[in-house]
Amino acid sequence: MGRVAQVFVKSLLKERRMVYCSTTVELARQSFCRGLRAFSTAATEAKPSSGVCFELSEEQKEVQELARKFTRDEIIPKAAEYDRTMEYPWDIVKKAWAVGLTNTHIPKHCGGVEMGVFEGCLIAEELAYGCSGIKTAIEGSGLGQTPVIIAGNKEQQKKYLGRLIEEPLVTAYCVTEPGAGSDVNGVKTRAEKKGDDYILNGQKMWITNGGVANWYFVLARTNPDPKCPANKAFSGFIVDRDTPGITPGRKEINMGQRCSDTRGITFEDVRVPKANLLLGEGAGFKIAMGAFDKTRPPVASGATGVARRALDEATKYSLERKTFGVPIANHQAVAFMLADMAISIETARLAYMMAAWQTDNGIRNSYFSSIAKAHAADIANKCVSDAVQIFGGAGFNSEYPVEKLMRDAKIYQIYEGTSQIQRLVISRQLIESFKQRA
Ligand SMILES: Cc1cc2nc3c(=O)[nH]c(=O)nc-3n(C[C@H](O)[C@H](O)[C@H](O)COP(=O)(O)OP(=O)(O)OC[C@H]3O[C@@H](n4cnc5c(N)ncnc54)[C@H](O)[C@@H]3O)c2cc1C
Repeated sequence: MGRVAQVFVKSLLKERRMVYCSTTVELARQSFCRGLRAFSTAATEAKPSSGVCFELSEEQKEVQELARKFTRDEIIPKAAEYDRTMEYPWDIVKKAWAVGLTNTHIPKHCGGVEMGVFEGCLIAEELAYGCSGIKTAIEGSGLGQTPVIIAGNKEQQKKYLGRLIEEPLVTAYCVTEPGAGSDVNGVKTRAEKKGDDYILNGQKMWITNGGVANWYFVLARTNPDPKCPANKAFSGFIVDRDTPGITPGRKEINMGQRCSDTRGITFEDVRVPKANLLLGEGAGFKIAMGAFDKTRPPVASGATGVARRALDEATKYSLERKTFGVPIANHQAVAFMLADMAISIETARLAYMMAAWQTDNGIRNSYFSSIAKAHAADIANKCVSDAVQIFGGAGFNSEYPVEKLMRDAKIYQIYEGTSQIQRLVISRQLIESFKQRA
């Protein structure tokens, strides 16, 4: 079994005395992908452990180390600048693609490496440690792809997922509308069958990668009867961005994660071939919601990465800053804040790992995905707030890193289902399970 991850990139660059440029990155990418393919084959063939094991495999450690190194070298030095300019971080997205840190879930028959959600989470935690805005720019594409991974036929997958392996392109997931966020049943975008095509009309809102995606997953109502239940009323489509009638709006200026591209998108008489319908008419709601089982664990791991960064920054500062003649870390009130941050980060990591492990092993994980997402989002917000507190006045200032972390963390309690919606999922399932046991 070959070594993977940065070993390939490093050895290639070293042996051939190369620096990052498009050709070297392409060579590194090909080598890395070969390694990842070997990795994913071994992972598939590995026997499930007979008991609980908390140790990452060597391959997982290498993937994690690659993402950590990429974050250190490519993301951290540029994060503040991208936050300031709010530009989409194309150069970093392309480099991440080149070294194999994007599109990791794409099936092998499309040229992908078909890694698990677990490994995707390891990568997401590292990238978010560097900048969760840049991580969202990368991860938003994973969200757009997931409906095609779980529900696309071989041709759809080969055409649309294969494209992402061949070129550094990104996708977007278009469900939310101005009048429908938590209440997905309120989606008004319509898709009417006309001959061999569907005609889409409607307005989407808050779409990550809305202005930069090559194609979209779009949820639209195909049954006009308002009494039709959600699990029959909607359909999911793959829609090429360059189809006439699609107009992305202006880039939204958000509180945090400011380099991520968030937009409204208007669909006006957009003609989509019926070959781009996923599964069949009426399956859209299940596909759109089912995607979250695979995408909420990486969102949770991203929030964990933000929290971990807050802890590192706060620890470093608390050892440097002195009051009353001693480093502030020596004051128990400060040290205990650090301890509480550590407790919450460690438990958040265990929760996302559990959720990811379940889905990778074919176990229904909505309950744990929601626990992981809600917990990580909440602790990330608590950790960044405590980090600002530990920095004192400097924490409130944009020259210091924790102010950005505080702005970036908030969205974790909102996108991919608010913290209230996660609690709705958790409470419904636990009550149902209790009733069955009673
Ligand atoms: C930066 C950003 C990126 C995003 N990216 C995407 C994307 O790529 N694709 C996409 O489709 N969407 C995306 N979204 C949309 C996001 O998923 C929604 O904003 C979110 O689901 C909440 O919907 P809403 O904004 O309509 O709020 P609402 O649904 O109006 O909720 C308002 C408040 O009411 C609460 N609430 C609502 N219903 C209930 C209930 N039943 N019980 C208790 N509380 C409730 C909510 O928790 C919230 O606090 C993004 C949003 C943002 C801000």
